[in-house]
Amino acid sequence: MIQVKNSIQIAAMKDAGRITGEALLAARDRLREGITTYELDKVIHDYIVRAGARPSFLGYAGFPGSACISINDEVIHGIPSKKRVIKNGDVVKIDVGAYYKGVHGDSARTIGVGEISSEAQRLIDVTRESFFRGIAAFAVGNRIGDIGHAIDSYVVENGFSTVKRYVGHGIGADLHESPDVPNFGTAGRGARLCNGMALAIEPMVNVGAPEVLELSDGWTVKTVDHSLSAHYENTVVLVGGEVLNLTLIDPQF
Ligand code: MG
Ligand code: MG
Repeated sequence: MIQVKNSIQIAAMKDAGRITGEALLAARDRLREGITTYELDKVIHDYIVRAGARPSFLGYAGFPGSACISINDEVIHGIPSKKRVIKNGDVVKIDVGAYYKGVHGDSARTIGVGEISSEAQRLIDVTRESFFRGIAAFAVGNRIGDIGHAIDSYVVENGFSTVKRYVGHGIGADLHESPDVPNFGTAGRGARLCNGMALAIEPMVNVGAPEVLELSDGWTVKTVDHSLSAHYENTVVLVGGEVLNLTLIDPQF
């Protein structure tokens, strides 16, 4: 069942989204060679808690961190660790959620640290742009398949592949709600989009093949062929026929 949000819920989601987006900015400002993913996670945790919110991921199905931090060929769900030190040239994905006033925000960014390869930069740029291609299809009367079709077409045109095993999702009182929002699909298929729909749209894009596997830690998802992966996510809602991007704070990021 897709939960259509009312104006009170949307107002709360604006706050949860803002806190989520600001926590990502706080992490970006601290991200550099030599920092551990544990320290980055703490920056995010402390920002969210100081804002009066709760980290959505902390304790979610037993997840031990406040953020998922995934590096290079890790796609998503990386566990923050004191042993994991960020190096020059790393491609770092940071995924954050904040729960506030009974609703969640969910957002992710991929950041290159120091000098990264031109291919890595292109992957980051294409992944980000694919999100915007996707939300261009987030319009009243369109269907879920239009979003995924727009994302995947752009990614494939650029020579990369979208992850199929993990998808975007509805969001609100629960972190993961109906409907699934695949990063691929057939235009004109799937649930119809309407005002009050809130989605976390989150392309995961690989340089190589789309296949991924979960590591024995029970969380970290990596590319099977060890190719680089990028992730870009915002929480968006349709209101009065317009898309509000609730987690995009810095329009360049
Ligand atoms: Mg996320
Ligand atoms: Mg998500």
